[in-house]
Amino acid sequence: MTGIALGRLRPALGAVALAFASRRAVALTLAGCAAVALTFAGCGGDSAGPAPTAPAPSPSATVSGTVTATVTGAPVPNASFSVGGQVVGGSGAGGAFGLDLPDGVHQVAISAPGFVERSTRLRAPATGVTLDLIPDAGPWTLDFYRELVRNGAGGGELEPLTRWDFEPTFYIDTRPEPTTGDEIPEETVAFVREAIRVTVPLLTDGRFTGEQVHATDDPPPDLTHGAVVLRWNAAEVADRAGNANAFAFQVGGPANVIVFRHLEETWAVHHEIGHVLGLYHPLGGHRRSHMWYSGELEPPHFTEWDIFHAQVLYARPSGNLDVDRDPPDFVLGGSQR
Ligand SMILES: [Zn+2]
Repeated sequence: MTGIALGRLRPALGAVALAFASRRAVALTLAGCAAVALTFAGCGGDSAGPAPTAPAPSPSATVSGTVTATVTGAPVPNASFSVGGQVVGGSGAGGAFGLDLPDGVHQVAISAPGFVERSTRLRAPATGVTLDLIPDAGPWTLDFYRELVRNGAGGGELEPLTRWDFEPTFYIDTRPEPTTGDEIPEETVAFVREAIRVTVPLLTDGRFTGEQVHATDDPPPDLTHGAVVLRWNAAEVADRAGNANAFAFQVGGPANVIVFRHLEETWAVHHEIGHVLGLYHPLGGHRRSHMWYSGELEPPHFTEWDIFHAQVLYARPSGNLDVDRDPPDFVLGGSQR
């Protein structure tokens, strides 16, 4: 992953200037608070009448389970499963499916009317497999998804997802800010702790709790596997991120560091946690996003657009490729991650 490169994004409004310093760092500076009135295209999702019912899965099926809609969990009937271009089964009423497949791992394509086709791997035999497809309707917007989670703003190659596959552990560095010697007040630590506790479950759809948080004067080294270090260091921010308020070392996991310039700029924590969890800056100006306009949005800070697409991100393994291709080491029905 190359992160956000210099010049890939251009600030569209005077309210926000984006600053990019080191190769993989992402940073944001908010110079003011412009009110932006853009409406959220709400979830429609009307389905077109009752769907024909497919045959019930054969009792001899070696792989069985349910096809659901990503995020909502609604059942998806009429999904078609293909292996090597041959249809091997489908889902019936309630999304139930059963496939007769030889023992082993199979590359499977799953498609359904109104959903994004998914390519993944299934291990046979298996029962109780839940397989979700992204609804191509409602808040789902492919362009925004690509901008937010694949570094797609401003062109360039779309990147694999960099979400966390396990719960991160956050370490708030309580040592004094080194350039001023300012002590880190308890209320600042509490503010950061609360931002983590709210933002992590919100963006991961409850997969992670945001409760693995330590305030410590002995944090692990930068980019220790599984760790996210948060600290205040004005000189480090100036060196690596110009005039930004704060920056994250990279987008996503499985390790990261957030650096705030001064205590007064700790408000940027929600935005930087967004980066830590795998969110990039989307294009500005036409869709509301906390990953673009930071600061003027009230709690929970992230917009409906941000939350829905982040939750789609967390319904997929890291390494998932555009549009919806799971990586080869991800196998449903076997050792899932
Ligand atoms: Zn940012």
